[in-house]
Amino acid sequence: MDHPVIHKRHDAGRRAPHLADYAGTCRAFRWEAARAELAGLPGGSINIAHEAVDRHVAEGRGDRVALRLIARDWSVRDLRYAELAALSSRFAHALEALGVGRGERVFTLLGRVPELYVAALGTWKRGAVLCPLFSVFGPEPIRARMAIAEPAVLVTSAQLYRRKVAPIRAELPFLKAVVLTDGGDGGLDWKTLLDAAADGYETARTAPGDLATLHFTSGTTGRPKGAMHVHEAVVAHRITARYALDLDENDVFWCTADPGWVTGTSYGIVGPLAIGCTMIVDEEEFDAERWYRILAGQRVGVWYTAPTAIRMLMKAGAELPARHDLSALRFVASVGEPLNPEAVLWGERALGLPIHDNWWQTETGGIMIANYAAMDIKPGSMGRPLPGIEAAIVRRTGRGVEAIAAPDTEGELALRPGWPAMFRGYLREDERYAKCFADGWYLSGDLARRDADGYFWFVGRADDVIKSAGHLIGPFEVESVLMEHPAVAEAGVIGVPDPMALEVVKAFVALNPGYAPSETLRSELLAHARKRLGPAVAPRAIDFRPSLPRTRSGKIMRRLLKARELGLPEGDLSTLEESA
Ligand code: ATP
Ligand code: MG
Repeated sequence: MDHPVIHKRHDAGRRAPHLADYAGTCRAFRWEAARAELAGLPGGSINIAHEAVDRHVAEGRGDRVALRLIARDWSVRDLRYAELAALSSRFAHALEALGVGRGERVFTLLGRVPELYVAALGTWKRGAVLCPLFSVFGPEPIRARMAIAEPAVLVTSAQLYRRKVAPIRAELPFLKAVVLTDGGDGGLDWKTLLDAAADGYETARTAPGDLATLHFTSGTTGRPKGAMHVHEAVVAHRITARYALDLDENDVFWCTADPGWVTGTSYGIVGPLAIGCTMIVDEEEFDAERWYRILAGQRVGVWYTAPTAIRMLMKAGAELPARHDLSALRFVASVGEPLNPEAVLWGERALGLPIHDNWWQTETGGIMIANYAAMDIKPGSMGRPLPGIEAAIVRRTGRGVEAIAAPDTEGELALRPGWPAMFRGYLREDERYAKCFADGWYLSGDLARRDADGYFWFVGRADDVIKSAGHLIGPFEVESVLMEHPAVAEAGVIGVPDPMALEVVKAFVALNPGYAPSETLRSELLAHARKRLGPAVAPRAIDFRPSLPRTRSGKIMRRLLKARELGLPEGDLSTLEESA
């Protein structure tokens, strides 16, 4: 796309000028060296919880604030590294007392409450496997995921239990215990359990390849898969938080991801704690005014959020950020969906900083491709591969998979397996897992292209790409052009069957405040898109919608727009957000 490059000044008082020498760092990078930066446990064992909390205590940093928890009513509670270490040890003891063995699954169904962090770390200390669920899930998605993983323990609140778990309790015979953070009927009381347990716990000597975490994918393209991750993933979480989020131990960091989404674990728990910084945890859901107040009031330095949130902030207008002191903010990053160039540029205007897009998946466990602090940004690009990551554009041929060397050619984004955060399987779906690999590549299912400078550009999900009159059209490009128009808050683009062209492009658009759907506006948008994209790629039709269907992790569900448009079965909607 034709947006100007944003040049970075490499001397601009940046705390961590990582990758100023990108090529040199990539050449010199060794995963073994990153691994050697861990504290480790005797016998070559690695345990995430040890790196995330106990290490800091052992090295004299126990007094630092690990979590600053902001409750709905704005009351603030700090949890220091030493407290988090002690509480998670108590939870590990409690699990042991409940008869939870190594490798057994512990599910959480919690919002952003302190117990979530304690339960996650305690589970890892015990050597059990953590699986966080979205707290907004209804009974059926909860039941379905539990039926696959057969957890021994569920940690949730009394209210969530009553509404969502009690009705299906009889279908969960494998559960040894339900722990309720605030006590009540149907489960054990969190406080009683922890009060009865000791502070010190001898953390399980897990092998680097032992299972640590199970994460279900977002379900954007179909039935969610349970991606399995291991303890050595912490090597990647730590180093990618440093490189791609520019994070160091002196930072106040805020990751807005929901705890049920992989981002909430990799960069909402593991990476930042392994680095030893202070994390802001807001119990409340999105609210533009509240978010600016937190950014300003907490002097947030590094902020990791998602395009859906950025689009909502854009919709809320420019006066809000102008009223808040955002001078502490020094790095903003986004993940989950393509970040439209408009959003990158909005960041510069409204926050005083461009937004750094990065790309990864539940399967990859950590960030793979990113716009780094020290790197010039091409708005609309996902950036370049992290050191230690080999990414390529490939084509599937009759004989296998071949890498495409020529720049600016569209193909499937593939990665060479071998980084520590890589998933080790889809739980109980070996065939689906095996299909992700061919000829030494992991195939991401996303289409992209790489330009001559090595920047990767997202084109679309392989499933979402539109084939029209001999062209392959990525929805992202069309959506980004629609987003340029001041009336457009969000856009989702699909292909609909056409007798002449095979498929034609149809767009669904939600409008900014102050704009109403009209024939005039429709014609204006169609004309704008035709002018920018040409008639072959521009949408033929535009429908106005109050909002677009999205997943819990904030991704536009194009498959649902399409199914509804064509009257087809809607498929697995377990991750669809309620309001949609
Ligand atoms: P499912 O696999 O169940 O369909 P999902 O792929 O949305 O769901 P996640 O693992 O949460 O589940 O999301 C990873 C996907 O999100 C990527 O494959 C990509 O399509 C999209 N994505 C993530 N970050 C970016 C980005 N920066 N730019 C474009 N797309 C992105
Ligand atoms: Mg996916």
